Amino acid sequence: MNLLPIVETKNKPFIIAGPCSAESEEQVFAIAKELHKYQQVNLFRCGVWKPRSSPNTFEGLGENALPWLQQIQRDYHFDVCIEIGTPQHLEVAMKYGIRYFWIGARTTVNPFLVQEIAQASKGCENIVVMIKNPVMADVNLWYGNFERFYNMGINKLAAIFRGFSSQYAYPYRNEPAWLHLFEFMRLYKQIPIIFDPSHIAGHSSLVEELVKKAIYLNVSGLMIEVHQQPQVALSDRQQQLDFGQFNNLINTLSSLQLNNDKTTQALLPYRLSIDEIDKELISLLSKRNRIVEEIAQYKKKEHIPILQMDRWQTILQNAHNNAVQQQVTPELVEQILHLIHEDSVKRQQQIIVRSE
Ligand code: PEP
Ligand code: MN
Repeated sequence: MNLLPIVETKNKPFIIAGPCSAESEEQVFAIAKELHKYQQVNLFRCGVWKPRSSPNTFEGLGENALPWLQQIQRDYHFDVCIEIGTPQHLEVAMKYGIRYFWIGARTTVNPFLVQEIAQASKGCENIVVMIKNPVMADVNLWYGNFERFYNMGINKLAAIFRGFSSQYAYPYRNEPAWLHLFEFMRLYKQIPIIFDPSHIAGHSSLVEELVKKAIYLNVSGLMIEVHQQPQVALSDRQQQLDFGQFNNLINTLSSLQLNNDKTTQALLPYRLSIDEIDKELISLLSKRNRIVEEIAQYKKKEHIPILQMDRWQTILQNAHNNAVQQQVTPELVEQILHLIHEDSVKRQQQIIVRSE
């Protein structure tokens, strides 16, 4: 995939900011006017069609808000981006000169719908499409959306990471599940990542710490919800920053410039040690496997069940205590042991059942 940059800027990360939704002419202009003061803001975000959980909540002003956004593009230094969820949204928005779009997390779960929108985008010159991760942690499904647009000739594409729906999201609204983000970044290096701390956090007080975490991951952009009076916003009230909070965030960002050019020479000895430790871990696993195989031979001979629940319970409990004692995250150790135990059972099954 050969992509072009989505914004012309030297600022890293580039900044997309604006309200969750357009609520009135007065509101969108008040926010645009404030954000215009910041050269760092590269794009103005503003939802006009809102995918809400309940139809009895504010679902956006739709086409009525588009003339205001067109005006903002004329009067201020940034272009506007909006969410589209159908081919008609794209068609209508383009009539008002909108060129930047994002596909929301509730839409990117649906390949039929994304395909229809992608088809409608064919031949639309110069448009930019930003694709939010699907609500569930499925990196392949996320990437498939890029292929759909790329196949239609759209090469200004970016990914927006907004976390996943999860029962483990607390204290956030959506779980960042970094593992999946890293995997996406590793596999699809060419796709710029825009980090959306607002929809991950769900609360304005958690936005700044998430932004700092994202900066250290070297993301390409940030998408931040800002509202002139968040407490009366018609959608996502708790997570939108007020003007003061946004100003603080911009100040934090300017004091947090990462040095990307610095050589990694100084890290080399540490990295060698880490490589050594990883090698050791793998040879320990190999050693463990040999013992598992001997146990399997014995169980086979004596007709002893593979799964020994009491023993497994003890292993887990001991590992937990050990982890706490040695200040290793117990959840991490438990997860690793679950995987090791599953593999161990499979190895025994292989020896005992398959060879019968
Ligand atoms: C939004 O950006 O306002 C939005 C609805 O986000 P998401 O699709 O990530 O829930
Ligand atoms: Mn929102």
